[in-house]
Amino acid sequence: MPASQSLPSFSKSLFSGVILDELVFPYPKQEKEEKENLDMILDTLRKFARDNIDSGKMDKEKDIPESVINGLKELGFFGLVIPEEYGGFGISTTSYVKVLEEIGKYDGSVALLLGAHQSIGLKALLLYGSDEQKKKYLPKLATGELIGAYCLTEPEAGSDAGGIKTRAVRDEQKGVYILNGSKMWITNGGIADFFTVFAREQIKMQDGEIKDKITAFMVTRDMGVTSGKEEEKLGIRASSTTAVFFDNIEVPFENVIGERGKGFKVAMEVLNSGRVGLAGGNLGAAKTALQKVMLHVKERKQFGRLLVDFEMIKEKISDIAIDMYVAESMVYLTTALIDSGKFDYSIESAISKVFATDFSLNTANECLQMAGGIGYSQEYHYEQHYRDARINPIFEGTNEILRAFIALAGMQERGEYLKKIGKALKDPVKSFGLITDYAVHYMKERLTKEKIRDVHPSLMHSKADFENWAKNLFIATERILIKYGKHIVKKQIIQRRLADAMIDLYAMIAVISRVDTCIKEKGEENCKKEIELCNAFCEKAWRRIRRNILMIDKNDDNRILDIAAFTIEDEAFLI
Ligand SMILES: Cc1cc2nc3c(=O)[nH]c(=O)nc-3n(C[C@H](O)[C@H](O)[C@H](O)COP(=O)(O)OP(=O)(O)OC[C@H]3O[C@@H](n4cnc5c(N)ncnc54)[C@H](O)[C@@H]3O)c2cc1C
Repeated sequence: MPASQSLPSFSKSLFSGVILDELVFPYPKQEKEEKENLDMILDTLRKFARDNIDSGKMDKEKDIPESVINGLKELGFFGLVIPEEYGGFGISTTSYVKVLEEIGKYDGSVALLLGAHQSIGLKALLLYGSDEQKKKYLPKLATGELIGAYCLTEPEAGSDAGGIKTRAVRDEQKGVYILNGSKMWITNGGIADFFTVFAREQIKMQDGEIKDKITAFMVTRDMGVTSGKEEEKLGIRASSTTAVFFDNIEVPFENVIGERGKGFKVAMEVLNSGRVGLAGGNLGAAKTALQKVMLHVKERKQFGRLLVDFEMIKEKISDIAIDMYVAESMVYLTTALIDSGKFDYSIESAISKVFATDFSLNTANECLQMAGGIGYSQEYHYEQHYRDARINPIFEGTNEILRAFIALAGMQERGEYLKKIGKALKDPVKSFGLITDYAVHYMKERLTKEKIRDVHPSLMHSKADFENWAKNLFIATERILIKYGKHIVKKQIIQRRLADAMIDLYAMIAVISRVDTCIKEKGEENCKKEIELCNAFCEKAWRRIRRNILMIDKNDDNRILDIAAFTIEDEAFLI
């Protein structure tokens, strides 16, 4: 189900000073039957991948062989998220993301092939399609007879997806839309047969006004879609990425997905739910990179000692291990929020994407560094890991745009409330009621909802740090909203700081919940390593949060912006 904004959200509540700890405790666990089913799928996948997926060869040949695509089709991997009644496996988001994580361990391009098909290519149909539409297309998408692609980006509309120009014009007599335009950077663009396309159309509103709105369409290759040549890319070279062209394509009226004019919402909801799949794939890729470099640092000697014996190498390994555990904790907490169908997960899935993709790129970089010269050689694939990881902070919402989204969507609810306060302050007599309401509301929250439930004593410091910095985030949000009002929309450095603080807080609560649950199930003795990982992360995280929050008031932003201005204007660096 879409990440509806009327449902409770852990992160949005935190920005408003309320900790909804029941959303994140206890740490979710898969049901036995679901877990057994997943284990079977993973076993099948591992066997297939070991025998068939040669990542280095695919990278060199810039192609996923037919045999791999057909093998995955035969094993049902194109229908993982499609309900059984339409011929798929109908597995949960948690299981699906675990499968993508496993594929990510073997090859990024193969993970993308399946991810672009299921996380985004067919997702609009799954979320918003009618029964009839589902009956018509899902069975063929489940077997892979049709491969899906998601077509939003255009030459002039990337991050600003609302600026798309592809046009759909209704031909009432024929009962079709005439579609014209082009999309670019489309994953699976060269091999897909089923395209979810976002295009503009003129719609007569209820009041008679004609408006230009975005609508989502299902378009199939046989309607006349053409693809450009394969892009020559830095990484994920075996993944098909092309432009896609619509030249007077006739699309039947019944191929509109959801409501006419509501396509932008559809596009965003698909990305909201799809992002967590990308996070899972990144987790898998990072695990492989670390595993690979471990073999190297345990064997290679310099200065008469193994690399693994040097503290600077150990520090890198430790940093990766901590962030890996945390990334995993937040990804699978988020998938559980999605699976429950009861919560708004839009911020949590954006956080998971940002954290996991930054982490995975950093891991690829540090593993290459630990490998030294051979890390730079094509022969050893560290460089492929690095090239493959580089795309992830760019697509499915760049990490800059997602940071702005996390901060602004998080503040929205508080802003709505404070708008009333702002008006109230201008007219104190009339507004006493509201101010009192506000104060009571504020105090009530502060007294009753700024703590999380008791956790195991070994995690007490982490719990206290979380609570302290959650409260500080709330206070900072209030201050910012009062200080900048609607101008906060342009204050991107502040947004970035708030978003980074929120990312760290969500990461902290995910890992505290996971380890606390682990201790309750297995006992403290059996969770020693997890406790170390949790406390080490929380210690690092609260220091980052403190810095980000302190810098909201005391910073060098004006100077930074001045330097940017003269660098941009004068190109002074050339002197
Ligand atoms: C390999 C690959 C596969 C892709 N697959 C698909 C796909 O299947 N379907 C699809 O529709 N699209 C796909 N994309 C497109 C991808 O989603 C876009 O590239 C991405 O959204 C960024 O848009 P852009 O490239 O136009 O960059 P721009 O929007 O021009 O951004 C350039 C830089 O400016 C920053 N920036 C932009 N606006 C702001 C702002 N307001 N504030 C601060 N910084 C900003 C960005 O963060 C980025 O760093 C793919 C791209 C690639 C490279």
